[in-house]
Amino acid sequence: MNRISHWIDGQVVESSSGRSGTVWNPATGERAASVDFASVDEVDRAVAVAKAAFPAWRATNLSRRAEVLFHLRELVSANRKEIASLVSAEHGKVLGDALGEVARGLENIEFACGIPQLLKGDYSEQASTGIDVYSIKQPLGVVAGITPFNFPAMVPMWMFANALACGNTFVLKPSEKDPSAAMFVAELLKQAGLPDGCFNIVHGDKVAVDRLLEHPDVQAISFVGSTPIARYIYETGTRNGKRVQALGGAKNHMLVLPDADLDMAADAAVSAAYGSAGERCMAISVVLASDGIADELVGKIKDRIPGIKVGPASEAGNEMGPLITGEHRDKVAGYVANAEAEGATLVVDGREDAPADGFFLKPSLIDNAAPGMKCYDEEIFGPVLTVTRISGYQEGVDLINANQFGNGTAIFTRDGGAARQFEYDIQVGMVGINVPVPVPVSYYSFGGWKASLFGDTHMYGPEGVNFYTRTKVVTRRWPDPRTSRIDLGFPQNR
Ligand code: NAD
Repeated sequence: MNRISHWIDGQVVESSSGRSGTVWNPATGERAASVDFASVDEVDRAVAVAKAAFPAWRATNLSRRAEVLFHLRELVSANRKEIASLVSAEHGKVLGDALGEVARGLENIEFACGIPQLLKGDYSEQASTGIDVYSIKQPLGVVAGITPFNFPAMVPMWMFANALACGNTFVLKPSEKDPSAAMFVAELLKQAGLPDGCFNIVHGDKVAVDRLLEHPDVQAISFVGSTPIARYIYETGTRNGKRVQALGGAKNHMLVLPDADLDMAADAAVSAAYGSAGERCMAISVVLASDGIADELVGKIKDRIPGIKVGPASEAGNEMGPLITGEHRDKVAGYVANAEAEGATLVVDGREDAPADGFFLKPSLIDNAAPGMKCYDEEIFGPVLTVTRISGYQEGVDLINANQFGNGTAIFTRDGGAARQFEYDIQVGMVGINVPVPVPVSYYSFGGWKASLFGDTHMYGPEGVNFYTRTKVVTRRWPDPRTSRIDLGFPQNR
């Protein structure tokens, strides 16, 4: 069986921890590979290597750092099919979806190519007589990324592209469920000219994560994953004095007003709920349907479901693959099984007729879901769409704002005034207006509110550059006999 080992100092390093995990082929349910789990010593080695590489990488001039990122951009682009195939094989998402993931990750590398522009500071000439003041952004040192299974190529790119461009060195702990895409990208970073030691990967579980959270030489932690772990990462990392951004789970609502184009809304709901088998933190999992249009909208969504082609990524034409593990498939199926007992209406049961091999479920549709029901309250993270019927705009907004999560949301309407009011009222970090999956482009930043993000800084884009740098302000005067005098008073400008 294929063995996946760490990447330290520009080469593959086998673990001697004696611990490992299984990487499944979710489309067949077979074991595909084993992945080494790092010991504390192995994490320490990766951090030590990254620390040793930091001074030279920090001193590397901006044009050269940008050049490495431009090379990486070309290599990722040229190898996008290979990366997407690795993602499909271990995650299960269909190839077109995996290619989309690589494309969105690539945007973050492209953004980081502009690092000479992004690191410009401010400058104020003559802040006081003969005195100029300016700010500079400096890298932090060794920074770590801990990433989830659902975007094994893109989410690491959200982090390391900006982190490296800013002059930091990086240790990645990818999801142990689909670690191969990150290993492939590590090779590309080396080919792109990144010096050995600047980018390292340790695979593993809580042992590796806890060591990164404690290690005195790790300056900052970027995390993406579920809310309980995000909260733990934030609390533990900040207690240890680190800068932390920890993005958590989601329960994204789509509010459909009576004036919306219902065919467009149904297409969007189906695409955003069932794409990637619902294993997206920006998936739509709740449709809030105003009473007057709810029956029609539920009918339109129901009618579209049989047309979704469910099957392995290896067969062209399939649109939705399996879930990540058998355990997760069973958990998701549990929400569907419970829906009627909770008082909801099971309109389409995705447990029926799912491919027998692998970890498949077909799309499910649950109507009349409401707060207090597990299928409404909890993040399901599978191909299950629930519908909640509402009296109108205000009830929809109140439900969204009362939800513990605040990652993404969307409103479907033709009424510009209502849409504008929605963006003003809603307590959610990323908002779509007739756009169901409003993942910001790479020159904005990604992040939710409430239990979807712990920390102050969103990920990638300008906020990513801020996260990976510290600002220093210099107040400077050059010797000038005309302005030199003794003055024991507190410096002031007027
Ligand atoms: P997860 O929280 O189980 O795992 C994420 C990472 O944390 C992995 O690298 C894992 O090895 C590590 N981890 C797991 N348990 C740990 C523990 N007890 N201690 C320390 N580390 C631990 O998440 P997942 O199942 O891989 O990913 C799915 C979740 O991620 C969903 O909740 C989804 O909403 C969320 N997600 C959020 C965003 C976002 O941007 N907000 C994006 C993608 C995914």
